[in-house]
Amino acid sequence: MPLSDSADNWSDDAFWTELKRRLPSEVAEQLITGATIEKSIAPLRSYVAEPMRYGNLFLAGDAAHIVPPTGARGLNTAGSDIFYLYTGLVDFYKKNDATGLEQYSEKALARVWKAQRFAWWMTTMLHTFPDTPDYDQKLKEIDMSYLFTSNAALSSLAENYVGLPY
Ligand SMILES: Cc1cc2nc3c(=O)[nH]c(=O)nc-3n(C[C@H](O)[C@H](O)[C@H](O)COP(=O)(O)OP(=O)(O)OC[C@H]3O[C@@H](n4cnc5c(N)ncnc54)[C@H](O)[C@@H]3O)c2cc1C
Repeated sequence: MPLSDSADNWSDDAFWTELKRRLPSEVAEQLITGATIEKSIAPLRSYVAEPMRYGNLFLAGDAAHIVPPTGARGLNTAGSDIFYLYTGLVDFYKKNDATGLEQYSEKALARVWKAQRFAWWMTTMLHTFPDTPDYDQKLKEIDMSYLFTSNAALSSLAENYVGLPY
C-alpha cells in the first residue's frame, strides 16, 4: 500500500480479508484471526549514517541505519553493532586498548552495508511497485525463479539471512 494510505483506513476485517486474498487458499482457510493490537504502515526506506562515530559519540542500530523490513536485518545489525562496540569498550576500560573503538565504525559499516544490499535486493525482488518498468519487472521474476531452481542461489540467500559472520 502506498505511504499516502493510512492505517486508520484499515479496519481489522479489511486487513484480514486482504491478507487472506494474498495467501494460497489452503493457508488462508487455516488462518486464525483476532483483534489487532497495533497497526502502522512501514515505509520501505534505506539509510546509513557514515561514519558511525563522532568523537566520543558512537551510533548504533536504527540510530545509524535503517533497512526496509523485507530482509529482517534491522535488529540483527543493531546486535552486531553492539557486539563490536561492547568489545571495544571492554578493551578500552579493562586493557587501556582503544583499537576496537577506533575500528568500530569501519567494522560495523562493513556488515551494515551487506545487510543494506540484502534488504534492498529482497525488497526489490518481492515487492511490486506501480512505476516498475516492464524490463525491471522481468528481471525480478527471473531473480525469483532462479531462487527456486538453484541451490547456489538459495545458499547465498540463507547466508545473508543467518550466516554473515561477525
Ligand atoms: C514491525 C517491525 C518488524 C521488524 N522485524 C524485524 C525482524 O524480523 N528482524 C530484524 O532483525 N529486525 C526487525 N525489525 C527492526 C528492529 O526492530 C529494529 O531494527 C531494532 O529494534 C533496532 O534496535 P535499536 O535498539 O537500534 O532501536 P529501538 O529498538 O527502536 O530502541 C530504541 C529505544 O530507545 C527508546 N528511546 C527513544 N527515544 C528516547 C529518549 N529520548 N530517551 C530514552 N529512550 C528513548 C525507545 O523507546 C526504544 O526503546 C522490525 C521492526 C519493525 C517496526
